Amino acid sequence: MNAKRRPLIAGNWKMHAGGLDGVRLAMAVREFASSVPHVDVLVVPPYTAIAAVAAELEGSSVLVAGQNVHGKPHGAFTGEISGGMLRDCGATWVIVGHSERRQHFRETDADVAIKLAAALDHDLSPIACVGETLEQREAGKTLEVVERQVAAVLDVLASAKRACAVAYEPVWAIGTGKNASPADAEAVHAAIRGWLAAKDTGLAERVRILYGGSVKADNAAGLLAEPNVDGALVGGASLDAGSLGAIAKAAESLARS
Ligand code: PEP
Repeated sequence: MNAKRRPLIAGNWKMHAGGLDGVRLAMAVREFASSVPHVDVLVVPPYTAIAAVAAELEGSSVLVAGQNVHGKPHGAFTGEISGGMLRDCGATWVIVGHSERRQHFRETDADVAIKLAAALDHDLSPIACVGETLEQREAGKTLEVVERQVAAVLDVLASAKRACAVAYEPVWAIGTGKNASPADAEAVHAAIRGWLAAKDTGLAERVRILYGGSVKADNAAGLLAEPNVDGALVGGASLDAGSLGAIAKAAESLARS
């Protein structure tokens, strides 16, 4: 972490905790959030729980995000959700280009750029996800792939008037229990910072670069200690408030030191 940037710990609930269980989880997150005043804590419930979770978290420091957004503000797109709808439910952030969207729903770099612009048009702060597959890593193509994904969103990020984040999530590390080592994560984060800086040094200083991929309470401190790792995007472990709280506390103690 770097003292210039406030750590951001985001919990992506994926297709879990979409009802009362989501509200209960949000209550537990709210409880630990007051003990990590130097950390931004963000929860990302499924659409069905966003409004209830946002109501539960009102008056707290915990932020709420959507897991995806459509590129258009409205229209005949059955099953989709717009940025305006996310805002109306109380979300102020949104994830775009998660690898599960790229993999299972065929989202392309161009789609991700359109979604990022749509998020910003609706005053939502985006977390743009990038990351290589195992095959690409083994072929030595990690930086080439991630650079292409970052390049696709660079102009939109540079035009943003709101906080933005990039999440480096190696696909082989998501939900597998195999996280990137702190040194491997740092190498990619530093490269991303460099590509942002080549566009605009202010952009590189303000955009938070999160690591995602099997982050747990016992590996978070090592990853977060790296200078270009500004936080974490947490999937599985975020469904347990105790685990997300422990990750946020690791960020808090690094931010205080
Ligand atoms: C994610 O959903 O973005 C993620 C990183 O999942 P997990 O922490 O379960 O690997």
